[in-house]
Amino acid sequence: MSWFIRKEKGINTPTEMKREAPDGLWYQCSNCKKITPTREHKQNAFTCPHCNYHEKVGSDVYFNLLFDDNEFIELDENLTSGDPLHFVDTKAYPDRIKSTMQKTGLKDAVRTGHGKMNELDIVIACMDFNFIGGSMGSVVGEKIARAISYSLEHKHPFLMISKSGGARMMEAGFSLMQMAKTSARLAQLSEAKIPYISLLTDPTTGGVTASYAMLGDFNISEPEALIGFAGPRVIRETIGKDLPKGFQSAEFVLEHGFLDFIVDRKDLKDKLTSLLTMLR
Ligand SMILES: [Zn+2]
Repeated sequence: MSWFIRKEKGINTPTEMKREAPDGLWYQCSNCKKITPTREHKQNAFTCPHCNYHEKVGSDVYFNLLFDDNEFIELDENLTSGDPLHFVDTKAYPDRIKSTMQKTGLKDAVRTGHGKMNELDIVIACMDFNFIGGSMGSVVGEKIARAISYSLEHKHPFLMISKSGGARMMEAGFSLMQMAKTSARLAQLSEAKIPYISLLTDPTTGGVTASYAMLGDFNISEPEALIGFAGPRVIRETIGKDLPKGFQSAEFVLEHGFLDFIVDRKDLKDKLTSLLTMLR
């Protein structure tokens, strides 16, 4: 078995001769299946360089992308959910919250913060889909409402980044009340003539679409995001008809007048900056 024995001793490879593996990690696009080094994918704002598929990302990525040097003051970061209805499905609601917190490192499905974007003050609320499907419960509603009040008080524009399956069923009626609460607060922002931009990302559906996500002075979206109220299956079964091609895609919604424009994530910061500069 001599081939298992290294005959020559002291074989060294100088550092400059060593091939550098790009983090040793690769990203496979779930749309076109092509492979990109993780680092390049990250530099590309988590969009595929081959087909421009926008990977679902969380608040940490958007904050990093938009706030200058990733510097911001997080608002109400320790607000957490109660269990008003003692709700139990496959798990008790407090247990589900606890295990989701551990898994995601988040406190609930939205994070809010104030910082500078290309030197302009901005308040951003960004949803996290990883936290129970980005569902809107009382914490989400309350944090958004408080962030809007903060915008109002300091006269800074407000950006909402939505990504949600809709209302959180474990809080039932309490979730639905958040629609009215956030909408009322946005009306105050509008009266004070402070700009509100709503960015809809994949997916934005249910009670979120039916309240704050569609109330922007500008409603904008990422390419090919799913935007709708009820899901396509429910609609098909209700109306008993086949749905048109591309139904509920951002492009379809834009064509039908519900969006102002679609923005590539790589251009998001610059587009938002020029929009807010125009509105000043
Ligand atoms: Zn791709």
